[in-house]
Amino acid sequence: MILILEYTLNKKKELKEKIESYRNNIKLVIVQVNDDPASNAYIKGKINDLNEIEVRYELLKLSPSIKESELIKVIERLNNDPSVTGFIVQLPLPKHINKEKIMSLINPLKDVDGFHPLSKFIPATPKGILTFLEDLNYEFKGKNAVILGRSEIVGKPMASALISKDMNVTLLHSKTSDEDRKFYIEHADLIIVAVGKPLFIKNEYNFKKDAFVFDVGINRVNDHLVGDCLNNLDVKFQSPVPKGVGLLTRLALLINLVEAYNNGF
Ligand code: NAP
Repeated sequence: MILILEYTLNKKKELKEKIESYRNNIKLVIVQVNDDPASNAYIKGKINDLNEIEVRYELLKLSPSIKESELIKVIERLNNDPSVTGFIVQLPLPKHINKEKIMSLINPLKDVDGFHPLSKFIPATPKGILTFLEDLNYEFKGKNAVILGRSEIVGKPMASALISKDMNVTLLHSKTSDEDRKFYIEHADLIIVAVGKPLFIKNEYNFKKDAFVFDVGINRVNDHLVGDCLNNLDVKFQSPVPKGVGLLTRLALLINLVEAYNNGF
């Protein structure tokens, strides 16, 4: 099975070659309205990727005390700027700003994070996992998927994407009983874990031997990053943490950006 790191490097190379002719016309703007260390790290990763495939970008760092009305003006300007192919508003936003309102004001054609309710794009984490599976020629149809976690950015859009692939999809959450979780996990061909609890899933389950597990969780424990799953589950494929779903997520943002350009944004 191909390693995710190797896969994303190959895909970025492919993307770079593909967009060579129109690279100078693509531009991503990253709007940051926080000074959160995790956001800084995510943005640094995104910028590395953009540099790697030689796509123009602008990091618009705004004061966390900016008024909501001012931020709205920035969004409107980016929506109307023909030189901007796509833009993202890095979360979290300060408490005095209504996140849903801001997300709903982004032009869906430029919403490469896929957070607008009418966005043309699948959010980056589900899109990254989906694209990886498609490139493996994974046979989705009629298989059982279970997703742990029902967030707007991972669980729910992941479920919707897998339903579109004709999978039987079950979405679990914090009110799911231990017994039901065991039942669904043990019947699953594809398991997506996005709970945010270190090593929540261990080898106490009788996994299907050919199951695929994507560990979305990123948890900091004693200065180390650990996923929601124990490493080396007894399954056919498990994405590592780090250098797993995080890399697929970063790749998907680039794919969405190129799609925005091709769609005529
Ligand atoms: P989130 O907003 O942190 O919410 C956690 C979800 O897990 C909730 O839906 C919660 O259910 C559910 N949950 C809690 N206990 C559960 C249990 N016992 N069984 C099943 N579900 C349970 O979710 P998120 O934003 O998707 O983040 C989840 C994790 O993924 C975090 O560690 C985050 O840092 C990481 N993440 C990683 C990437 C990446 O690129 N690798 C991207 C995004 C997020 P309720 O709704 O009932 O509370």
